[in-house]
Amino acid sequence: MRIVADLGTCEGLGMCEAMAPDFFEVGEDGVVEVLDAEPGEEHRTDLTAAVDACPVLALALQG
Ligand code: SF4
Repeated sequence: MRIVADLGTCEGLGMCEAMAPDFFEVGEDGVVEVLDAEPGEEHRTDLTAAVDACPVLALALQG
């Protein structure tokens, strides 16, 4: 599984960080940073919730 973030779409709203702080962090530039782009399968439920929480649909899971 791979986290894909569209940095041009991200508006730095921080919903993903609130849902899964081990994997997302909004930097001072106001754009999300993916802390671990290839997380283990055991994180899928949390990451799906985080991806679904993004208001501008900037996140996706592949695989
Ligand atoms: S929830 Fe979406 S818009 Fe907000 S920081 Fe995360 S990726 Fe960016």
